[in-house]
Amino acid sequence: MGTSTEKAVPDAAGGDGGQDGTGEAEVAEVPRGAEAAEAAGETDGTGEDRTAAAREAGTANLPREAAPADPAAPSAAPAPSTTPLPRTPSPATRPVSLSPSRASDFMQCPLLYRFRVIDKLPEKPSAAATRGTVVHAVLERLFDAPAGQRTAGGARAMVPGEWEKLLAKRPELAELFTDDPAGERLAAWLADAETLVERWFTLEDPTRLEPADRELYVETVLDSGLQLRGFIDRVDVAPTGEVRLVDYKTGKAPRPEYADGPLFQMKFYALVMWRLRGIVPRRLQLVYLGSGDILTYDPTEADLRGVERKLLALWDAIQRATATGDWRPRRTKLCGWCDHQAVCPEFGGTPPPYPLPVPGRAGTLPVAASGEGQGRMDLV
Ligand code: SF4
Repeated sequence: MGTSTEKAVPDAAGGDGGQDGTGEAEVAEVPRGAEAAEAAGETDGTGEDRTAAAREAGTANLPREAAPADPAAPSAAPAPSTTPLPRTPSPATRPVSLSPSRASDFMQCPLLYRFRVIDKLPEKPSAAATRGTVVHAVLERLFDAPAGQRTAGGARAMVPGEWEKLLAKRPELAELFTDDPAGERLAAWLADAETLVERWFTLEDPTRLEPADRELYVETVLDSGLQLRGFIDRVDVAPTGEVRLVDYKTGKAPRPEYADGPLFQMKFYALVMWRLRGIVPRRLQLVYLGSGDILTYDPTEADLRGVERKLLALWDAIQRATATGDWRPRRTKLCGWCDHQAVCPEFGGTPPPYPLPVPGRAGTLPVAASGEGQGRMDLV
C-alpha cells in the first residue's frame, strides 16, 4: 500500500489515530517533468494553483492556468503565445533554495526553471490559478470561526469577500475580467469557486478538525547545505502526536499512474517537517476539490531519505546549469501552459541573454536544442 485514493471523512483530531496502516517502504520515483506536472492534476508546471505557489516561486508571478486532469487531453491546452510578455526589470539571482514548485519546474523543463527563477520573467495571471488562491484563502480562514459555525453556506459566502481582498492586494488581477462588462464571467467564476469550497465539506468535516497550523511556511537546511522551503496548507496533530500534512488541490485527482507527482510534493514537505521537528508525518493527504477525491500516503523514514537523495541530485543538476548557463528546453504538451514560448527555442524564440556570469565564456550563451540530459528522472 503506497498510496490510496478515497472519499473519506477524517477523524476529529485529524491524525487518523492509527486507523490506517503504515505505508510500505516503497520510494516513489521523482517524476519526470511532464508526468510530474500532469500528475498534479492542475499545473503550472508546479502542480499548484495557489498563493503558496506564487510565494514559493519568489518571482512575484502568479501561478498559472490549471491543466487538464487527464493527461490525454492535450486539446484543452491554450493556444501558444507568440508575443513576448512585457518585461519587468528585476535583478537576476542565483538559485539559493528549492521548493516543490521549482523542483517540478526543473523536472518539467530546465529552461522554464531558468525563466522563472533566474530571469524572473513575468507571467500572466490566470483565472484558474486565481480561483485556487481564493479557495485556499476560504479554507484557511474558515477555521478562524468556532467549530459550530464552520458551515458550507458560511464558507460559500466567504468567496466574494476573499476575492475582493485578493483584488485589493493585487489590482492587476482585474485584467482577468476586463472583457466582461456585464460581470457574467466573473459571476460564473465565483460560482465555480463556491462549488469547490462546498465540495470540500463532502470530504472533510471542519467541525471535527482543529488544525495545528494553516498555510504554514516551512524551511530547513539539509546537512549538504541545500535549503528547502514551502507552504503547507494544513497541519493536523492528533492527541497522540501523530502529524498529518494536508494539501488542497482545486483540480481533479490524477489517474493512479500519475500520482507520484503530487505525492512528491507532499513527501518534500514531509522531509522538511521531519528535519525540522524530528517527526515523520504519519499521513500525507491530498484533497482534490475538483473531483471530490482524497489521496493519502503514509511515508516512512526510508521514503524521506530517498526523497532527500533525489533532491540533492536535482540540486546538483540545477547548480551545474546555473554555472554553465546551459538551460535546455524540454518540449512537452505542458508547453501549452507556458507563458514563455515567444522566447523559447522550441517555438522559434530566442531567450534573453543569460544574466549570470559564466566562467570562461562571454556574452549570451546559446540554449541547446535538445532537452536530453536535463530535467529528467535519470538525473535524479
Ligand atoms: S515553451 Fe519552452 S520554456 Fe516553456 S515549458 Fe515548453 S520548452 Fe520549456
